[in-house]
Amino acid sequence: PYDVLVVGGGPAGASAAIYAARKGIRTGLIAERFGGQVMDTMGIENFISVPKTEGPKLVASLEEHVKDYDIDVMNLQRARSLEKKDLVEIELENGAILKSKTVILSTGARWRNVGVPGEKEFKNKGVAYCPHCDGPLFEGKRVAVIGGGNSGVEAAIDLAGIVKHVTVLEFNAELKADAVLQKRLHSLPNVTVVTNAQTQEITGTDTVNGITYMDRETEEVKHVELEGVFVQIGLVPNTEWLGEEFERTRIGELVVDKQGATSVPGVFAAGDCTDTMFKQIIISMGSGATAALGAFDYLIRN
Ligand code: FAD
Repeated sequence: PYDVLVVGGGPAGASAAIYAARKGIRTGLIAERFGGQVMDTMGIENFISVPKTEGPKLVASLEEHVKDYDIDVMNLQRARSLEKKDLVEIELENGAILKSKTVILSTGARWRNVGVPGEKEFKNKGVAYCPHCDGPLFEGKRVAVIGGGNSGVEAAIDLAGIVKHVTVLEFNAELKADAVLQKRLHSLPNVTVVTNAQTQEITGTDTVNGITYMDRETEEVKHVELEGVFVQIGLVPNTEWLGEEFERTRIGELVVDKQGATSVPGVFAAGDCTDTMFKQIIISMGSGATAALGAFDYLIRN
């Protein structure tokens, strides 16, 4: 069996595997797609010590670093289920079962899509999901934020400090964000809030040039000219394949403690699949290191 088996090959998983392997213990890594969300990212400007890079380039460095160590990398393999017996058993989609003394879950998350025409076509060409990452790309431009929950309103407040104008589109009759956030939002001069707005299409040619929505009250269809659209209708952690024994948040994130331990003994978690407050590359790498050191501590005590 492995000492540490990492499930997920994004920045959290790569970091966890390297930290584990550096302890000289038997380490494996399973990834459906090595690199994770970073593979889908164009410009990265907030990975500290690297002023500017691109997703695939950072993934290549991650891969190179992982290869420096004795880590069994099983890429293009998807974990289907986890069972905790004496050891932790991971069943792969292809039927194989891998056993390990400890497991680190780092399966990441995905942004919930609005699913309207234009969203897919203009991804990274005006359609964005991460204000911390892509906000500065829209400096001085006009953007919309789809979603008036906490993340949407936080994004709008954040963006309002960078861009020329922000239109917030909320499907329901009222914003769902906390009152303090709403108050802050309404105090900003360059933000327009539209409620009862059903997004119908993101328009553009090479890049985004507008958004079309229907006023659900009057059924009137309206078009707003702008250069960017931030979709903020939720983040979905890739934890659906795990059983009920895992404590999760309302949206399915794995609850972890300071060592990265989940509610299942011997199973740790890191990165975007956990209840960490913020989801970023540098943060997921830090939590991957924490989980690996937590798993090592567990191994020497059990
Ligand atoms: P992920 O990167 O999501 O990796 C998850 C891994 O798990 C993948 O290898 C996946 O294939 C694998 N996996 C999932 N399910 C299974 C399974 N059942 N079995 C096996 N493997 C599985 N952050 C920044 O800091 N700066 C940025 O500029 C930035 N820009 C972004 C732009 C975009 C478009 C997106 C989507 C995100 C961006 N982020 C950025 C956020 C950042 O990418 C994430 O916070 C980070 O990748 C999380 O790392 P992770 O390892 O936790 O998960």
